[in-house]
Amino acid sequence: MSFSELGLSDCLLRAIEGKGYKTPTPVQEKAIPAILSRRDVMAAAQTGTGKTAAFTLPLLQNLAEGEHAKSNIVRALILTPTRELAAQVGESVATYGKHLSLRTAVVYGGVKINPQMKKLRGGVDVLVATPGRLIDLYNQRAIRLSSLEVLVLDEADRMLDLGFIGDITKIMSLMPKRRQTLLFSATFSHDIRQLSGGILHDPIQIEVSPRNAAAKSVKQSIFEVDKAKKSALLSHLIRRGGWDQALVFTLTKRGADRLTTQLEDDGITAIAIHGDKSQGVRTRALAKFKAGEVRILVATDVAARGLDIEQLPYVVNFDLPKVATDYVHRIGRTGRAGLQGEAISLVTADDVKLLAAIETVIQERITREQEVGFVPKQVVAITAPRAGGPKKAKKLKKPKDYSAGKSAAGRGKPGKQKTVAGRGGKPASKPSAGRGRSAGQGRKPAGRGR
Ligand code: AMP
Repeated sequence: MSFSELGLSDCLLRAIEGKGYKTPTPVQEKAIPAILSRRDVMAAAQTGTGKTAAFTLPLLQNLAEGEHAKSNIVRALILTPTRELAAQVGESVATYGKHLSLRTAVVYGGVKINPQMKKLRGGVDVLVATPGRLIDLYNQRAIRLSSLEVLVLDEADRMLDLGFIGDITKIMSLMPKRRQTLLFSATFSHDIRQLSGGILHDPIQIEVSPRNAAAKSVKQSIFEVDKAKKSALLSHLIRRGGWDQALVFTLTKRGADRLTTQLEDDGITAIAIHGDKSQGVRTRALAKFKAGEVRILVATDVAARGLDIEQLPYVVNFDLPKVATDYVHRIGRTGRAGLQGEAISLVTADDVKLLAAIETVIQERITREQEVGFVPKQVVAITAPRAGGPKKAKKLKKPKDYSAGKSAAGRGKPGKQKTVAGRGGKPASKPSAGRGRSAGQGRKPAGRGR
């Protein structure tokens, strides 16, 4: 199948050609016609599958057919969980839409709000935003969502994990019920299905890879090692393999800083990004890594979420993630859009439970290796995926109708919700009390503040 067969206009086909894409990815094949026909879509697609283009291309085409936005009006809103992802999606919107005359903007927290307000004054056709900053802008009367045509929730599962349900509910209450809603999520968790029930209207469901499956283009392996030798083993693997670039995940911010120092001490250029670093520092770090000025980018889950680094050959789980499905997100950073990638996890005797949970999510046993000089003294017990997949999550309360008007957070007085300055998608900040939880969603936001 070719892009032109999907019904895309010449302006978009030219932009696609400019990017060098030859054929649509599976999620693009399915989502583009569905979105062009203005249906609601619920798609399970990991980062790396081409999902951004899958929703951006048809969205732009549909918008180009209508009237331009009037002052402070937003016609299409793309919500993303993190600033990095917002910036990346914003870049994609600009690239794919470069032959169209649509006004687009990207807003997120951690940077000054005034320039964003100024940009929005004339209205925008597409706004990419993190939830917190969007609410701040709404409260400052910088935007109006009352004639929103399309809402896209990108990485919706992560938005729930980060405790954004309250913000999402509030945002939904500000927009018309009649609109097109597109929900993209790496996995269809129980919570996601529950959320979608309230906000999607007769959606077309798209699932491009088996539930929670890791991309086939990623070779996965485990190195068994003692805790004290993890960083030495990592330096050894980097040197032995002559790795040019790798993204390394740690569990904590402090762990990321510590590992960065150890790698630098070993003569390997490394830089850390995590929630305690300012947005400017994070953006510069990412730019340096992308430019090949540093070999290793050390990151926590939240900071790395949504990073699109082309042709990233290696992902290392220096620490296994506490939430098993994060493993799928992490290794999805490599082996993107058909390229081969390698995901290596350093596993100690203490990690056995986490490893078993991961193998259960991906429903396969990961190949184990030991490296001469690093054979662990503490045995890493044998693990196997639990037959039938992970245990079912506890049932949550019946979903509310999030689609308009009477949401728990909004309840007709949307302007009155307390906002926290600069919090828009800010992975750094500790969650303010009760923030981001809906009434029926009393779960702990995993991954925040990491
Ligand atoms: P995403 O899943 O949206 O994060 O996209 C992952 C990567 O795939 C990005 O670097 C895109 O530029 C690239 N990509 C998207 N669509 C295609 C395509 N049809 N062919 C080749 N690469 C693509």
